[in-house]
Amino acid sequence: MISVAEAIQIVRDKTRTLSPEQCQLTNALGRFLAEDIIADSDLPPFDRSQMDGYAVRAQDVKTVPVRLRIVGESAAGRGWHHEMGDSQAVRIMTGAPVPSGSDSVQQVEMTRELENGALVEVIESVELGKSIVRRGSEIKAGEIVLRAGERINSAMMAALASFGYVELKIGRRPRVAVLATGSELVAVNQTPAQDQIRDSNNYSIAAYSQLAGAAVERLPLTGDQTSILKAQIDAASERCDVVVTSGGVSMGVFDFTKTALKELGAELFFERVALRPGKPTVFARLANGTFVFGLPGNPVSVSVTFNLFVRTALLAMQGANEPALQEETAVLARIVKGAIERESYLPATLMTNDEGCLMAEPLKWGGSSDFVAFTRASALIIVPQGIKALAEGSRVRVVRLPD
Ligand code: AMP
Ligand code: MG
Repeated sequence: MISVAEAIQIVRDKTRTLSPEQCQLTNALGRFLAEDIIADSDLPPFDRSQMDGYAVRAQDVKTVPVRLRIVGESAAGRGWHHEMGDSQAVRIMTGAPVPSGSDSVQQVEMTRELENGALVEVIESVELGKSIVRRGSEIKAGEIVLRAGERINSAMMAALASFGYVELKIGRRPRVAVLATGSELVAVNQTPAQDQIRDSNNYSIAAYSQLAGAAVERLPLTGDQTSILKAQIDAASERCDVVVTSGGVSMGVFDFTKTALKELGAELFFERVALRPGKPTVFARLANGTFVFGLPGNPVSVSVTFNLFVRTALLAMQGANEPALQEETAVLARIVKGAIERESYLPATLMTNDEGCLMAEPLKWGGSSDFVAFTRASALIIVPQGIKALAEGSRVRVVRLPD
């Protein structure tokens, strides 16, 4: 059995970045940059005033109060482009260029205008350079602002817009088909009869896939027949980059997913991972290059295995520089049990305590079928293989669940 880390590495090694596409800035949120973003100008592009007030020379206002002659006005978008002289001041607005000859801006609250705006009286002296943001002090033309592989978040929008990226190159969304096996399943709009349950995995997998940037197609329920499963996977693989199935991968009599994949001629990269929950996870590739993930049926196993493996593949396909979930360290709020032969990923909630310490509280749950308890989970606690239990107060590795 391979370790979780080995399985994630296999996923990273086998997946390739899909060819990038052009995207309008307005549609770029959450997508992955496929090019470095370069500043096309200095920022600020000129010495800029941070305040409404008066551009002055610090030397002229050393002794206050002092009266200066107002020789002009510099507004945002309409600067005063002359040389300011001794004992002069220029009325200036926030965002406006600071005239040459001046070296500081005194804010309007520290001044008052006299003689119908001919003079300004400065009441407080001002530090040299005060309230001026120097040209190029934020970034210089030609410098890299953001790197390929970064996920575009809301804060990045201002930078992209400022440097004129009305269009940009981004990773293409992987097309994902989601397919649930199991003859006990009925569709969500049906009332389960005896021995039946509603399919929930197709919805959680679709949601996680969308969060990971994929375009998702949900396929009809397949039951437990190899022939139907094969036909569905085969047809979906013609349209999609990744097929994600759930159920039918453990050792039961009706576990047909692997049989279907083998009969389709798929190459199986792994089919057992030392992971709890989620041991029977399958990762394969069909002859046409489409990847297939066969996730176990239990809804919690689905969430764990999706986020460890499928999410990593989907982000890698979009060119993400950090496709796998990033681990953090937390302190355990309560004892958790590990497993001898498998690394455990146990649902938990995270919170910061009064000392500023990140605490992981294991969820009270009924095991990997308990998806109702799992709705409260915000993270997974990682218990290394071979550890019987981790005591309250131990440091643990955690990963946050995307939501
Ligand atoms: P399996 O891996 O097919 O043996 O399924 C393990 C458990 O997960 C069984 O209790 C199934 O009924 C349940 N299960 C399988 N697929 C789904 C699904 N799509 N939605 C909800 N539960 C499922
Ligand atoms: Mg099943």
